Amino acid sequence: MELKNYIGGEFTKSSSRRWLEVREPATGRKYARVPLSDPEDVGHAVDSARKAQPGWGGLTLLERANWLDRIADELEERREEIASVESRDTGKPIGLARNVDANRSIANFRFFAEMIKNHRDETFEMSDAMNYVSSKPVGVGALITPWNLPLYLLSWKVAPAIGMGNTVVCKPSELTPMTANLLMEVIDKVGLPPGVVNLVHGDGAGAGSSLVKHHDVDLVSFTGGTATGAEVAKIAAPQFKKLSLELGGKNASIVFEDCDLEATVKGVTRSAFLNQGQVCLCGSRVLIERSIYDDFKQKFVQSVNDLRIGDPSQEDTDLGAIISSEHLQKVNEYVALSIKEGGVCLTGGPDSSVPLEDDLKGGYWMNPVVVSGLSPYSRCSTEEIFGPVVTLHPFDGEEMAIEIANNTRYGLAGSIWTKDLEKGRRVAEQIETGMVWVNTWLHRDLRTPFGGVKDSGVGREGGRWSLGFFSEPLNVCVKDDQAR
Ligand code: NAD
Repeated sequence: MELKNYIGGEFTKSSSRRWLEVREPATGRKYARVPLSDPEDVGHAVDSARKAQPGWGGLTLLERANWLDRIADELEERREEIASVESRDTGKPIGLARNVDANRSIANFRFFAEMIKNHRDETFEMSDAMNYVSSKPVGVGALITPWNLPLYLLSWKVAPAIGMGNTVVCKPSELTPMTANLLMEVIDKVGLPPGVVNLVHGDGAGAGSSLVKHHDVDLVSFTGGTATGAEVAKIAAPQFKKLSLELGGKNASIVFEDCDLEATVKGVTRSAFLNQGQVCLCGSRVLIERSIYDDFKQKFVQSVNDLRIGDPSQEDTDLGAIISSEHLQKVNEYVALSIKEGGVCLTGGPDSSVPLEDDLKGGYWMNPVVVSGLSPYSRCSTEEIFGPVVTLHPFDGEEMAIEIANNTRYGLAGSIWTKDLEKGRRVAEQIETGMVWVNTWLHRDLRTPFGGVKDSGVGREGGRWSLGFFSEPLNVCVKDDQAR
């Protein structure tokens, strides 16, 4: 299967004639190829977005919201297909792909359609004048996304961006291009005006960086690794492009002695290993109050051992494959490092293998790893691994828990587990991140701000924060001498 770019309402071949193979993580087999688009392809896509922008931006909010609803309707028709395509492309279990990726991608279009329908100009009255703040489109947007939640994150950007009147060029991850292609088929089928949404496939160094550099791109919404985010910022900042960066995370799950132990073990296991630990929000460092450390550790290890690893197409699979052989190697290097740093693997570890048969033998598999005995300042406890590896650390009292939680360069999310809700809120407010959950994790209300501080990014998306990022406020102040 050969994918094409989608430019100006047409599926078009890349002018580069260079390709990248797409492999299925569960088997390691090649099953498609994506074009490695070049600056010429990117130029065509940006030109087509620019051409379409005035007409699209000139529609009313209600007209654009109706288009988002039409896209959601068509995605809904293809819900099961989205789940199976996403599961195959990423190696994640089908149940997760259905409940999270497919459902949430549809929900993103519906949610922003509703928000945009209800969006109003703000007014600020003075004694002798009236201010009207209207939201204008920014122009042409570059939307760059990673491989862990491909359509979920792309739809999270496309819906508010076009809803607010921008036109866009998408650059999905070269590792997981399939559902982005599916979204273009949907957009084509519903007949969205040509050029409103364009897509170029390719890698970061080629297509991604050409897109960020392009002089006619007005905004960049980037989700990916922190080092890549720094590269993107270096290019975008001097050109004063509007920039949103959603980057890496190393998040703490803080377990107090007064938690509901059973619910906490379940919640912390999910937070550590959902999507094989390949979610930026995953709680990959578990801080446990010393009085319950041994008890929690024993129950947590049992809960991790109960996770079923294997064929992503099976409904009862908990853990699928790692995204690529390169990433598997990187994660395994961290496991080896954890032992060098003095850790002990309570589950998994360098020599553990996943007993899988037939086609699955060639896939990128690893058992979930729980490491104890490491310093909370060690590299494995403070650097983002982005795989099924967690470290356990005892603490004494709130102050120490907060100190450890804040001792990384990242600041994306965290969770706190306690029956004392006042303590939960008190500790949450001292964690240096953009999002903290108390007695839950990844419990998302799409109206709330999403994003991080420190090396986890700049800016917020979600709800009115997305509408704000994807628009420019214009204040018109009208003096009215008759008013006094
Ligand atoms: P990545 O940074 O390697 O790639 C992300 C995207 O950027 C891809 O489409 C890639 O092709 C593109 N890219 C790479 N180099 C580029 C460049 N120089 N210029 C422009 N584009 C470039 O990240 P990844 O490995 O795909 O994803 C994993 C990372 O994403 C993890 O660090 C994870 O924490 C992070 N992430 C963050 C969030 C969040 O919301 N904060 C969500 C999901 C993933």
